[in-house]
Amino acid sequence: MIYNFSAGPAMLPAAVLAKAQAELCNWGGRGISVMEISHRDPEYIAMTHEAERDVRDLLAIPDNYSVLFMHGGGRGQFSAVAQNLAAADATVDYLNTGTWSGYAIREAQKYVGQVNVIEALQDTAEGKSVSAQNEWNLSENAAYFHYCPNETVDGIAVHEIPDVAAPIVADMSSVILAEPLDVSKFGLIYAGAQKNIGPSGLALVIVRNDLLVTQQERVCTVMNYRVQAEEGSMYNTPNTFAWYLAAEVFKWIKAEGGLEAMADLNQRKAKLLYDCVDHSAFYVNRIAPKNRSLMNIPFQLRRSELDAEFLKQAKAEGLLALKGHRFVGGMRASMYNAMPYSGAQALVDFMTRFAKEHS
Ligand SMILES: *Cc1c(COP(=O)(O)O)cnc(C)c1O
Repeated sequence: MIYNFSAGPAMLPAAVLAKAQAELCNWGGRGISVMEISHRDPEYIAMTHEAERDVRDLLAIPDNYSVLFMHGGGRGQFSAVAQNLAAADATVDYLNTGTWSGYAIREAQKYVGQVNVIEALQDTAEGKSVSAQNEWNLSENAAYFHYCPNETVDGIAVHEIPDVAAPIVADMSSVILAEPLDVSKFGLIYAGAQKNIGPSGLALVIVRNDLLVTQQERVCTVMNYRVQAEEGSMYNTPNTFAWYLAAEVFKWIKAEGGLEAMADLNQRKAKLLYDCVDHSAFYVNRIAPKNRSLMNIPFQLRRSELDAEFLKQAKAEGLLALKGHRFVGGMRASMYNAMPYSGAQALVDFMTRFAKEHS
């Protein structure tokens, strides 16, 4: 049995891959692949409508929000958000909680005059944590407030939705569909697909309709939210295969019991691993409990000289992609929706054995 702990592109549900394989050359009895059909074909369009209905059901997306399937992954949205939602002389607020918020900030600085960076990471006795909202230096008239609820590289999460006056923009690339969400609290949510939705390259955007006013007229048309909303995300040829796979993942989540079931599974997997790390003198996680991610769990071996041996043995046992991000070092286990409980169990069993053998 192989368990893939990659941070992204990440594992997809086995049932979805098996279905895609079975119908790769013959989509729904049409005798051709879904990759070979026009995106304007009524049957393809019907599939995209079903995908939208399913994701609307899963997240209970209110009617005054548009759902877009866009190009350019998560990072494509870093500039799209800035250009669509803020005029060049506007002020925007960015909460800095780690690697991905940092990238989003640097991209926004290219397009928006005043990017107010709120440095929210702090070191406490309990580990790295995100400062309380009353310590944030928010702007008076921000066009929007941007944050990253789940920092994929650092394993840091902001579990409470901030309570701010400006429309909230959230980079949910690594946490979308992992648990129920109150979409009405957000102005715009975006997510690169390759963690919890499907293949890379695709981005899901959920945007409140009053924000579909393009603030910078020179925004690349493919990245223009208003145009893409008007065109059903088909201003140009979309990534048709990725959209199809995303549709299959949405169906799979519904069949598994929806986001409550995902949240329950994700909490149980994360608890198993954090408990293993916390109860051992061999491993350590340096994030304060209130800001620990359920999706991406970094941990270090206290004897880092054993890192290579740990990775080698893990791989030999079918536990893949546990090497931490190069910025952080150590290990990282990413456990998105598609990771079954047995994967977390296999990892913890291995870690316990490895610790015993090396203590
Ligand atoms: C993976 C990731 C991205 C980047 O996605 P790309 O599709 O590679 O552009 C952005 N933000 C977060 C939080 C991510 O985890």
